Amino acid sequence: MRATIWGCRGSLATPGEPTIRYGGNTTSVEVRTASGRIVVLDAGTGIRLLGLALRDERPSRIDLILTHLHLDHVEGLGFFAPLFDPECAITIWGPHQNGSSLRDRVAAYLSPPLFPLPFAEFGSRIEFRELGAESWQLDGLNLTAAPVKHPGSTLGYRLKEDDRVFAFIPDNELGLEPESGLALAERADVLFHDAQYTPEEYRKRHGWGHTSIEDLPRFLTAADPALTVMFHHDPTHADAVLEEMHERVRELTGRKIELAAERSSYDL
Ligand SMILES: [Zn+2]
Ligand SMILES: [Zn+2]
Repeated sequence: MRATIWGCRGSLATPGEPTIRYGGNTTSVEVRTASGRIVVLDAGTGIRLLGLALRDERPSRIDLILTHLHLDHVEGLGFFAPLFDPECAITIWGPHQNGSSLRDRVAAYLSPPLFPLPFAEFGSRIEFRELGAESWQLDGLNLTAAPVKHPGSTLGYRLKEDDRVFAFIPDNELGLEPESGLALAERADVLFHDAQYTPEEYRKRHGWGHTSIEDLPRFLTAADPALTVMFHHDPTHADAVLEEMHERVRELTGRKIELAAERSSYDL
């Protein structure tokens, strides 16, 4: 499979010169399976660019899998062109919601007064599937969802095709629960993990749902991924700040680690 990053910023989109190298769009990752199936992880502002890239291909089916419903993970949804294509069947997967359905929550966001069009008028065939801690299959792709430590109902995912594993945990607070997401990340070929805060920032942001780079090394030693990609960059972090954090994590762990950057792809 191949994973392509269309957005890796956390919390809020941050376009502009200071974020040009790693990108300002919020979370969205495209996964192409060997059989050509398209799985999209999260629908932050980056998903708009993926929609444009799919314009000529016009896929007939897309599985969109949401980690949770914080705005930085859904705010691009109404601007994802395939949602308006009557030839496209889209399944939106996401965590069970307390007190409401996933469909009603997403439809409430993508309807007036928060969005110009009523959700019922989107043109594609959209179906919703709610997830808890479970595994399921899409052709040859095996997916596992598990709750992670983050405010509200939030899942991380492990995607396995043949013997290759991609783990996606963009929002997770290891400082509160050091083993959160561990089974998802275990021996992954590529792990995308929350690395939002410096230790100094994290002291003032306990409980906000994100990981300090100081808390990553112990998790990575336990999970032992072949490659870790630092994900969910803080909106206040310019490219140079991210590079300093990357250097600190590399020194702390001695492991193979990269910074997530928009439009980078990983073949696994
Ligand atoms: Zn987030
Ligand atoms: Zn979040």
